[in-house]
Amino acid sequence: MDKNPEIIEQIINDLNDAQRQAVCAPAAQHQLVLAGAGSGKTRVLIHRIAWLSQVEDVSLYKQLAVTFTNKAAAEMRQRLSSLLNLSLSGLWVGTFHGLAHRLLRIHWHEAQLTQHFQIIDSDDQLRLIRRIVKDLQIDDKAYPPKQMQGEINRYKERCIRPQHIPAPQNTYEQICLEIYQRYHNHCQRSSLVDFAEILLRAYELLEAHPPLLTHYRQRFSHILVDEFQDTNQLQYAWIQLLLGEQGRLFVVGDDDQSIYGWRGAQADNLQKLQTDLKGIELIRLEQNYRSTGMILDAANALIKHNDKRLGKQLWTAGDKGQAIQIYHGVNAEDEARFIVERIQSWTEKQAGRDYQQCAVLYRTNALSRLLEEKLLQKQIPYRVYGGLRFFERMEIKDTLAYLRLLLNKDDDSAFERVVNHPPRGIGGRSIEQLRAIARGQGLSLWQAAEQAIKTEAFAKRSLSAIGKFLSLIQNLAGENEELSALTHKVIHQSGLWQHFKQKKQETEQMRLDNLEELILATESYETDPDTPMSDLQAFLSDTVLDAGEGQSSSDNAVQLMTLHNAKGLEFPLVFLCGMEEELFPHRMALQAPQGLEEERRLCYVGITRAMQQLYISHVESRRLHGNQLYPRPSRFLLEIPQELLEEVRLQTPVNLYQQYGNYQAKVAKDTPNNLENWIGQRVQHPRFGEGMVTDQEGAGKAARIQVMFYQNGAKWLVLEYAQLEKLP
Ligand code: ATP
Ligand code: MG
Repeated sequence: MDKNPEIIEQIINDLNDAQRQAVCAPAAQHQLVLAGAGSGKTRVLIHRIAWLSQVEDVSLYKQLAVTFTNKAAAEMRQRLSSLLNLSLSGLWVGTFHGLAHRLLRIHWHEAQLTQHFQIIDSDDQLRLIRRIVKDLQIDDKAYPPKQMQGEINRYKERCIRPQHIPAPQNTYEQICLEIYQRYHNHCQRSSLVDFAEILLRAYELLEAHPPLLTHYRQRFSHILVDEFQDTNQLQYAWIQLLLGEQGRLFVVGDDDQSIYGWRGAQADNLQKLQTDLKGIELIRLEQNYRSTGMILDAANALIKHNDKRLGKQLWTAGDKGQAIQIYHGVNAEDEARFIVERIQSWTEKQAGRDYQQCAVLYRTNALSRLLEEKLLQKQIPYRVYGGLRFFERMEIKDTLAYLRLLLNKDDDSAFERVVNHPPRGIGGRSIEQLRAIARGQGLSLWQAAEQAIKTEAFAKRSLSAIGKFLSLIQNLAGENEELSALTHKVIHQSGLWQHFKQKKQETEQMRLDNLEELILATESYETDPDTPMSDLQAFLSDTVLDAGEGQSSSDNAVQLMTLHNAKGLEFPLVFLCGMEEELFPHRMALQAPQGLEEERRLCYVGITRAMQQLYISHVESRRLHGNQLYPRPSRFLLEIPQELLEEVRLQTPVNLYQQYGNYQAKVAKDTPNNLENWIGQRVQHPRFGEGMVTDQEGAGKAARIQVMFYQNGAKWLVLEYAQLEKLP
C-alpha cells in the first residue's frame, strides 16, 4: 500500500505518549495494554490496526480483530475506514462467535457439518434439553434442564466432548453425561450448533486439519483483541492455536471490568498471557479522556473495595464537573418519572444535546418496563437493548423455523415447532409416534415422517395431514425466490398469517405487525459480499448471532440497557437506577464465590460510562416479579465518598402530600378530625435512622404509623412509643 503521510499523521497524533508507544510498537512485538475505563484502549487498538497497515506493511487482509459485540465491530470498521480513507474489504473484524461461525461456513465439510447447519439460541437449546430430560424419564427436579444446560456449556468451554469424560464418579455425573451425549447426537443429526459449539467446532476444525491451520496462521499474522478480560478458556485456547509460533498478539483489557465470570470468562487470562507469551510487553494507560473528575473519583473509590485487582488509578486533565446526583425515589414510578423529567430538561437546556446522548442503565431487564411507560407518555423516543429481542418473539421464531426447514429438513427443532403450528390436525400422539420412529431408527423427524407415510405406520387421517405438511415445505423449498418474497410466501402459505389474524385480539394484531416488520427486514437485508452463504442462510445466521443488537442505531433515542450491555460505550448523561440491595448487588450473584466483587466491577462499568453527568437512584418501595419490596440503598452507594455525592431534594412535604393523596383521603375519612396527619413527614428514629411516614391507622393510644426507613426498610410503629423526632 502506498504510504500516505497525512494519514500516518492522523494515526499517531491524537494520542498521549503511552498510547503512542502502544500504537507504534514494533510489528514483531506481542503487547498487552492494561488500563482502566475510558483511557483509550479501544482507540489504541483501532489506531494499531491502521498503523500496522500503513507503516509496517501488514495489510488489513493479514489482521484479525476481535470485538465483544457486533455493534462494536461495526463501529470499529467505520472508524477504521474513515481513518484510512478506504473501504475495508478483506479485514476480518467480529466477535469470537461471528469469526468462528465464518470459519465453519467456509469449511463446513471439514468441520463435519452439513452445508445448511443452523445456529440455535439458548432458548432453543434449553427446550431441546428439556425434551431429552423428559424422554429419558429423568426427574427434572433433581436435574433441572437449566442446570443441565449450564453443565453442557461448561463442558464445551473446556473442550470436553462426551467421549472425553472418563468413567463418571457418581450418579449426578453419570446422568449429566447421558444427557450431554443425547444432546450431542441430536444436534449432530439435526445439523444444529449452539453458541458454545460454534467456538468448539471451529477450534477442533483447525486443530484437526494442519493444512487449514497453517493457512490461517499464515494469513493472520496479527491478532488484536478488545475487552480481553472477558474471554473464556476456549476463546483463550482459540487465540493461542491461531497464533502459533509466528503470530503476534495485541490485546487490550481491564481486569476491573471483567463482568462475565458467571458465563465462564476468566480475567486471569490477562495474567496468564504474561507467562504464556514470552516477551510480551505490558503497557499501562492512566489518563482518562471520558469522564469528569468527580465521576472518575467515584469510580476509583468504589473499585478500591475489591481485593483481587491488578491495581491502577485513573486521572483526568478535564473538568471536575458536577457532583453525582443521588435520588431517593418513593417508589419505582416516582423514580421513572424523575429520570424522564431530567432527560427532558437536560436535552432542552442546551442546543446540540439530544436523546441519544442519554442512557439509563439497570441491573435487570425487568426494570425497563416502567421507564418505557413514562417515556411513551412523554413521547420521548427510546431504544431498549436486550430484553425480549425482536428475533426471539414467538411469531418471528415460528417464521424463522419454517425458513430453517426449507434449508435443512433434518432440523428437528424447527420441525417440532411448526409441524402443527398453525394447527393442521397433527396431534400430540402422532408427533410422539414420529419421535419414537426417529429414536428407534436414528432418523430425523422429517425422515421419520416420510417413512411413516411410506409404511402407513399409523392412522390415515394423521398421515394425510403429515403428508400435506411435507409437501408444503417441499413446495416452498423449491421456489427460487428472493429472500423477502420467500419470507412473504412462508408467512402466508404456512397459514401463520391467517392463524394470528383470526384471533382478533390486540396482541395478535401486534404479532401481525411484527411479521410485516420481518418482511421489511428481509427486504433491506444486505449480505456481506465476501460471504460464502446464500441470502437466506446468512439472514438466518444473523438473526441468532445479532440478536438484540440488530436494531437501527441511527435513531435519536434515549438508550435503555442493562449494565452488561453498556460495556465499552459512553454517554454524556447516564442514569444508574435501582441502586438497591438485593437488586444491585443482585441477590443471586451474591451466592457465587467472588460474586460481590463481580457486581462491584459491574457498578464500576456503569459509573464509567458517564462523560458529563451521572445520576444514581434508589427507591423506598418497588414491585418486582409480583413482590412488594422495601429495599435498602445499595452498599455501593456507601462506598462512594460523601463529598462526591449530592442528594436531589424535590420531595418537599407538599409534593409528598400530593403523592399520597389517596392515603390522605383515606385517613381523612377514617380518623377523627383532631388526629394529626403524619403522612409524608420525614422522621428520625433512634435505632432505624431516617425515614418517611407512608401510612397511618388507628387513633389515640392505638395510633400506628408506617415508616419507610432509608436504611432499614418499612416498619409499623406505635406512635406513642416510637420516640420519633420530626425532621423538617
Ligand atoms: P472502556 O474501558 O470503557 O472500553 P476504553 O479504554 O476503550 O474504554 P475508549 O473508548 O477508546 O476507551 O476512549 C474513551 C474516550 O476517550 C473516547 O471518546 C475516545 O475518543 C477518547 N480518547 C481516547 N484517547 C484520547 C486522546 N489521546 N485524546 C483525546 N481523546 C481521547
Ligand atoms: Mg473500550
